This record gives sequence, C-alpha cells and structure tokens, in this order.
Amino acid sequence: QANKRRSLVVGNWKMNGDRSLVEKIQSQFSQASLANMDWAICPPAAYLGLFDSKTPLGAQNVSQFDSGAHTGELSVSIVKDLGCQYVIVGHSERREDNFESDEVVALKVEKILAAGLTPILCVGEPESVRDAGTVFEYLTKQLDAVVTLVGISAFANIVLAYEPIWAIGTGKTASPAQAQDVHGFIRGYLANLDSNIAAGTTILYGGSVKGSNAKELFSQADVDGGLIGGASLNPEDFLSICLAA
Ligand code: PGA
Repeated sequence: QANKRRSLVVGNWKMNGDRSLVEKIQSQFSQASLANMDWAICPPAAYLGLFDSKTPLGAQNVSQFDSGAHTGELSVSIVKDLGCQYVIVGHSERREDNFESDEVVALKVEKILAAGLTPILCVGEPESVRDAGTVFEYLTKQLDAVVTLVGISAFANIVLAYEPIWAIGTGKTASPAQAQDVHGFIRGYLANLDSNIAAGTTILYGGSVKGSNAKELFSQADVDGGLIGGASLNPEDFLSICLAA
C-alpha cells in the first residue's frame, strides 16, 4: 500500500509576498511538468484573486463561523469563491498568535469539510515537549480533538501536516528518521481507528524544507510531501522541492 498516495507539496507564504511574486510563481510553474504530484500555493488571502485559474490555491486560515458579524474574518465560502481547494488549519503560528485551541481547530476542520474543501490539518510539538519525550502524547491530544468532532471517516478528505515547532523557520529541519518516526506514529494512530483510512491519508512534513533536503525527507515511507514556508517564497526553490516529490 506504500505507494497508493499521491505526493503533495504546498507553499505557505504566511504574511509575505506581493503582486510581483504572484506573477513570478505563475511564470515559473507554467513551464513545469508536474503531472505525477499535486501542488498548491497558500498566499495571503488578499492575493488569492490575483492568481490565474491554473494555479491550485489554498487559504492559510478561515473562520469557524459561517458568515455575519465577524470583522476581519474570512469564511470558507469566501475562500472557496476565490478558487481555494485547500485550507491550512491549526498552524502553530495561529494556535500561538491567535490562541486557537484544539477545539477551535476541530470546528474549522468541520466547516472546511462541509464546504467540500480539503483541510491541511497541522500538528506538531514545541521543543520542550520533544525534550521531555512526550511527543506522541502531545500529538494524540491534538488529533483526538478533531477525530472526536468529525470522526475517523472524515480523514479520507483531510491532509495532515506534521510540523515540529522547533523546525519551523529555524533552519533546523527534522532529520528524515525523526520525521519518519512521527509520521509512522500518526499513521499508526489513524490505523488503530481505521486501517483503510490510514493507508490513504496524505501526511506532509513541514519545517525548514529546502531543495537540498526535500528528496530525502520525501523518500521516507510515511512522508507524502511537504508544507513549505520560507522556501516557497523563492519560485525556483519551490519548484525544485515540487520536483523532489
Ligand atoms: P518553514 O515553515 O518552511 O519556513 O520552516 C513551514 C511552515 O510553517 O509551514
């Protein structure tokens, strides 16, 4: 069953980029042949409408509410209207900056699924948890909150991303063995609930992925691609990471 999953590489621009990067990335990818994998860009939401229809898009966040009096927020239906197929949810920066609890993350996953979009559900531990040796317990709690609300069968339509917080934007990538260890654990967690779902779930690695380390990370049995921050801001680097998948 090892190879039934298609690779996916997603660029998360975070609060970076500008109109000219939108143009550059589109021209870089217009000549690329990436038939055997999936890719997408998650730019700042304000730029979503600047992309042509050939660029697969995702949002970096959505509201847990449907519509109405929520100043500054974007609903799932708005980002869907702007062409998004994916929504990143539960990124550690939002969990931290915006105090998003496991329960709020689960509510967002539910909304994204109900709209027919694919959540890219991020989980990952801070360095203190890794040092304490309780990574699996920490991830179990993050995953349990979502499973409890949406059920295991919903994971047929969820992409997971393992992003150790100590590796995000630090240049300190998890080693391929460290990534595989956790990805194997996550797939095992899912398999305990439903082995078919587990075999089909795409699990991305995120945290200082670059052109130079992507191939080895992506060659691990349970690493199905990557969620790319810093390196996705350079169209050539991002393309080389997609080509490594
Ligand atoms: P990074 O970010 O590639 O810059 O480490 C990854 C992420 O936060 O998605």
